[in-house]
Amino acid sequence: MSLFGDGTRCVHAGEPEAGAGEPFMPGPVFAAPYHLGGADRVGEADFYGRAGNPGWRALEHALGELDRGHCVLFPSGMAAIGTLLRTLLHEGDTLVLPADGYYATREFVHTELSELNLRVRRLPTAGELSAEDFAGARVVLLETPSNPGLDVCDIATVAEYAHRAGAVVAVDNTTATPLGQRPLELGADVVVASDTKAVCGHSDLLLGHVSTADRETAERLNRARGLSGAVPGPFETWLAHRSLATLDLRLERQAANAAALAAALVEHPAVSGVRWPGLPSDPAHETAARQMRRWGGVLRFELPDAASVERMLERSRLVSGATSFGGVHSTADRRAQWGDPVPEGFVRFSAGCEDTEDLVADVLGALD
Ligand SMILES: *Cc1c(COP(=O)(O)O)cnc(C)c1O
Repeated sequence: MSLFGDGTRCVHAGEPEAGAGEPFMPGPVFAAPYHLGGADRVGEADFYGRAGNPGWRALEHALGELDRGHCVLFPSGMAAIGTLLRTLLHEGDTLVLPADGYYATREFVHTELSELNLRVRRLPTAGELSAEDFAGARVVLLETPSNPGLDVCDIATVAEYAHRAGAVVAVDNTTATPLGQRPLELGADVVVASDTKAVCGHSDLLLGHVSTADRETAERLNRARGLSGAVPGPFETWLAHRSLATLDLRLERQAANAAALAAALVEHPAVSGVRWPGLPSDPAHETAARQMRRWGGVLRFELPDAASVERMLERSRLVSGATSFGGVHSTADRRAQWGDPVPEGFVRFSAGCEDTEDLVADVLGALD
């Protein structure tokens, strides 16, 4: 399957053998206990819903194939990040985090991992790096493109510095998606992602996953998931696998919409600070183009103040104010309302799958 293009792999990844009378996509399996079917079956077949589910394995197969690693599914992006950090970190370890990445990750480390007395080093995603930044690190988590700033760092360079320090390198790949970027091929050890965003893409469920080239790490995460009990629901898993089939198509339209919007907004007198890694004039473009395989639909820009953002949302017919991103509906989120350290008029915009002309006209109309 890895010889095929993105669209083909999205449609077919994780599908079962074609058998007469079998569905293309088997439905979700709802089971707490499974029939044991006689003695001594434990370990061979599914026996309990917290330990195993056929739908998890199918989607893990699919996402693992797209990431080119062993995948473990989690009920949300934060469950994936939290379980990963708890599994890799020990008391007193040094953890390197993006200073400008997803806020809940910083908050999780600060509050939920406080008992580990970690030394936490926060580096800006677009900052100059040196070997010293990674000295003594046990885990380096990076996020590129970062959410919400859309800054980019060079994964291969960070991985080289971090590996020289003996650290494990994990990349939050949520914004890029497995089609946009393959961190494991760029030198990272682990990919972690919220599939709530573009992978599921319909704004109707939460899910996350970790992929790693190291089978033993995947097994440890699998065990941690089963024992912590933070397991994905079978129905959400099934919906996500169903949604994955159209990821390539959705990303294509979202990226086309983001490109058209970014080009139009750059020219607009009321708009400043437009950033989209696919924009040739974007400061992150060169690095992004070297390591990313395609662009997504998330851009950012600034309006003069909070009231201007509110006005834009009131006047728009197609754009809803909502947090999260990557869905088929276009949404805009004023990040300062959530406490991100950004200006009051900073907007993270998620271009949906509407027709490009309709969306651009709607947004420009709402800004006038
Ligand atoms: C949304 C998000 C998460 C958390 O994912 P959930 O599925 O909401 O738990 C983590 N990292 C990034 C970059 C995100 O955008």
